[in-house]
Amino acid sequence: MSAATAPVVRHESQHARLWSLPDGAGLHAPYGELVVEPGTGRVCCHLCGRWFVSLGGHVRRHGYTADSYRKAMGLCRSRPLVAEALSRSIATRQRLAYQRCPSLRTRLAVGQELSRTGQLTLLACAAYPASPPPELMRLRRAALDTGRATRSAQRERELALRLRELGFGDLASYLRHAHATGTSLRGLARTTRLGRPRLHRELEAAGIRVRLAVPRSTQRGAGHQAPTATAIAQ
Ligand SMILES: [Zn+2]
Repeated sequence: MSAATAPVVRHESQHARLWSLPDGAGLHAPYGELVVEPGTGRVCCHLCGRWFVSLGGHVRRHGYTADSYRKAMGLCRSRPLVAEALSRSIATRQRLAYQRCPSLRTRLAVGQELSRTGQLTLLACAAYPASPPPELMRLRRAALDTGRATRSAQRERELALRLRELGFGDLASYLRHAHATGTSLRGLARTTRLGRPRLHRELEAAGIRVRLAVPRSTQRGAGHQAPTATAIAQ
């Protein structure tokens, strides 16, 4: 290595500006997320990329208050800007102070009453009419996805169990058997508890073509014919 290409010295507690605000300004951490350093639990400043036990005081150097920083970075208003361990110890200190200090309890009673009667929520909605911060939306989306995946896995387990009870190792064998014995689509849906789109896909995968009922209003009786499944190739 020549002297001209001396290594770039980078502050070890900083990392690159890989992310950006919706307006394009560069960030050292993703918008709508507070990045926690593995091992130490310190949190990353979006603006300079350095790690801190507490960001609340530091962000003033960038011209922000803790609240305006949360808002600018798309974080939840309730998000503590401190390492989790510190956040816990602050909560413990506050709880002890609350228990020991009658005047503090009196001061907080006003807010508690507002909270109990639901007025606090109304006041908050009036003060912040904007859409929920991106962090909250991201957390809600993640919770929904987890819930969906859990329910979907549960349905698959129940289906496998029902098929086993009926003596089939897999869905396609059951569908081919049920088709051969003239089971209607409705019957298949009832037994498998699959939604119609999925049932149609599974039938197709098992080589069975679904023939929908043709209305026969001109025919005597004009009865509703239940759809049945027909094999594509026999
Ligand atoms: Zn900073």
